[in-house]
Amino acid sequence: APFVEFRDVWLAYNEELLRANHFAVEGIDLQVRRGEFIAIVGPSGCGKSTFMKLTTGLKMPSIGRILVAGERVTGPLKISGMAFQAPSLLPWRTTVDNVLLPLEIVEPHRGRFKARRQEYEARARALLQKVGLAGYEDKYPWQLSGGMQQRASICRALIHEPQMLLLDEPFGALDAFTREELWCILRDLQAEQGFNVILVTHDLRESVFLADTVYVMSKSPGRFVVRREIGFPRP
Ligand code: ADP
Ligand code: ADP
Repeated sequence: APFVEFRDVWLAYNEELLRANHFAVEGIDLQVRRGEFIAIVGPSGCGKSTFMKLTTGLKMPSIGRILVAGERVTGPLKISGMAFQAPSLLPWRTTVDNVLLPLEIVEPHRGRFKARRQEYEARARALLQKVGLAGYEDKYPWQLSGGMQQRASICRALIHEPQMLLLDEPFGALDAFTREELWCILRDLQAEQGFNVILVTHDLRESVFLADTVYVMSKSPGRFVVRREIGFPRP
């Protein structure tokens, strides 16, 4: 069975738009295998962010259904981690404390987080080491380059060991060299840990380098369609 499945999914953002037949995405059919790395490319306004919101359960479809791990999505999912174009680390926290933040937030009692802090911190430090941030764990964001901050934000997205990593233009603000370095780091992490990745990008080359499958989301007047374009074997 697919890990993520969209069955003829349409979304209008509100009742008025629905009545006017104005959909942000129209008729998305898509199946993602467990562990598959998919990329979504397409112009601004074609519905990429909407697709992400649907996948994480932040928005419910107006028409159609979305299944994750065989279950219909009815609310925000806890199984995903996210990273965006801006690393948005908290400036008053060290790298390792930034990475730990999601665990601190999801732990229902601070006491429980504190009790397991050593274990969590060891996990965070191991992850930071994997992305080449050894030696920067106890530095503050301003002491890190943009690329280093983005690595830390990817670690933060992975610290709770999500089954799915959602990346929205995560390398968009980086120079070409740093970007390609991070591509390799991401691919290694994913090959090792086996999480699914859904990557939204404007960079066709990036999508081809990273993804198992690239979906091109197109925008035509009033219509937004995702279609399976090409499947690339991974190098
Ligand atoms: P992309 O991420 O590819 O730029 P979006 O998913 O943001 O595209 O937008 C898809 C369509 O939905 C666009 O026509 C956009 O104007 C519309 N849209 C996005 N967010 C909202 C919203 N909150 N309310 C109404 N329309 C929206
Ligand atoms: P805690 O770990 O106590 O939940 P944080 O680590 O998020 O809190 O923040 C540490 C301290 O920094 C808090 O006392 C908080 O009020 C303060 N703080 C909040 N916003 C900022 C900011 N923009 N710059 C510096 N310090 C801040």
